[in-house]
Amino acid sequence: MGGALVAIAPLMLPVLLLGGIPTIVVARRTSVLEFAFARRVTLLGQRRGYLKLLLSYRFTAAELRAFDATTELLRRHAEDDAQYLSLLEEHVRKRRRYAFAGLVASALTLGGALAVVVWLTAAGRLSLPDAGAAAIAARILGGQLSQVFRSFGSLMEASPFLLDLAKFHEDYPPGRSAGTRHDLSTSLVVEEASFTYPGQERPALDGVTVVVPRGQVVALVGENGSGKTTLAKIMAGLYAPEAGRVLWDGSELDGDDRRASCSILFQDFLKYQMSVADNVAISDTTVPIDRGRIESTVERVGIADAVNRLPHGFDTVMGIELEEGADLSGGQWQRLALARALYRDRSLVILDEPSAALDPRAEHELFADVRGVLGGRAAVLISHRYSSVQLADVIYVMEGGRVVEGGTHEELVALGGRYAELYALQAQAYLAPSSSPQRSERNA
Ligand code: ADP
Repeated sequence: MGGALVAIAPLMLPVLLLGGIPTIVVARRTSVLEFAFARRVTLLGQRRGYLKLLLSYRFTAAELRAFDATTELLRRHAEDDAQYLSLLEEHVRKRRRYAFAGLVASALTLGGALAVVVWLTAAGRLSLPDAGAAAIAARILGGQLSQVFRSFGSLMEASPFLLDLAKFHEDYPPGRSAGTRHDLSTSLVVEEASFTYPGQERPALDGVTVVVPRGQVVALVGENGSGKTTLAKIMAGLYAPEAGRVLWDGSELDGDDRRASCSILFQDFLKYQMSVADNVAISDTTVPIDRGRIESTVERVGIADAVNRLPHGFDTVMGIELEEGADLSGGQWQRLALARALYRDRSLVILDEPSAALDPRAEHELFADVRGVLGGRAAVLISHRYSSVQLADVIYVMEGGRVVEGGTHEELVALGGRYAELYALQAQAYLAPSSSPQRSERNA
């Protein structure tokens, strides 16, 4: 078509090409507009998604119904929806204005090209049949060119999003290494580690040094917010300390390698809506599923009987969201999560409050033979239960992001410091209830 136009009326081709400029200008503006809109509604979208999740999942149902909170959450969701829709309307209005301007400009160009034909014909420089051919060529070529420019415009519209993705990949490169697994042969040492969460002023950890010798149980105690979980996550390679070092058998391992070399039971562990066997084996997908090891690990944490009582034993799908499955109690779930942490056969396991949901008998059974349960692994145990903590080889007491005391249970009690105080407080509550001042007052 271009060739035909050049042969008949060469002036028309540049006029048609000029017609693409408004489309490109509009696309540039729209891309800025789209990106700004996407950024503007991101947080709102996340909040709507979160509210939708709260309102539709099973694990939230009991509490929402108990507090009759559904109506309030629906109201907030509707409020967010209304805000989103009004932003969307404003955005669409602006886009429509741009699109209209682009269309007018393109129409004017086509009109201009046709005016050139008319002018050439009137001036006698173009015969009538040639003018007809040129008009049709201009019409067809104009349509196709505007298609090309529109595609180009779509690419331009996507470009800020692609740049954003590229920047994200630059900061967090995709395909980070899975890390190389190391076995602990002497000790893990956290040396003078400090860490501050983004956006926080106070450091969560401030020059913390702890040693976890091979095969030993090291307990971390301290009040809520003292930095225990943060320290555990640094050990496990989930966070990198801002200052200080983490030495694995004397050499510095990066976070990926530490992740590959540790296992961890989180305080807020996940309850996978999968079979019991999957719930255990998900912690180590680098090896083929070992049914025998799953069963022996579940046995070791003391819930084999409970699992065998389920309708399909280890193949029972947990939870009733995906299909009609069964469920376990809070304490049984916690022991299943412990089995998950132990199934991942690493020489260091970190247990963040592993017995918080256990009844006293289950806790006693677990800790009576804690070294048998650990099977020779070194363990970092975070717990508020001093009955379990006192079994540890070393106990570190944390306060305000620092380690304030360290030693065995006997040493720390003899020291008469923070540990002795917290231990006495807990022991007193069990052993001498009548000596508690509040109780005495009430009794009086
Ligand atoms: P602990 O396990 O002893 O209860 P944490 O290590 O969880 O303490 O928390 C230590 C401090 O860091 C607390 O002041 C807590 O508020 C803060 N913190 C923990 N997690 C985060 C986070 N993801 N973002 C910001 N601050 C956090």
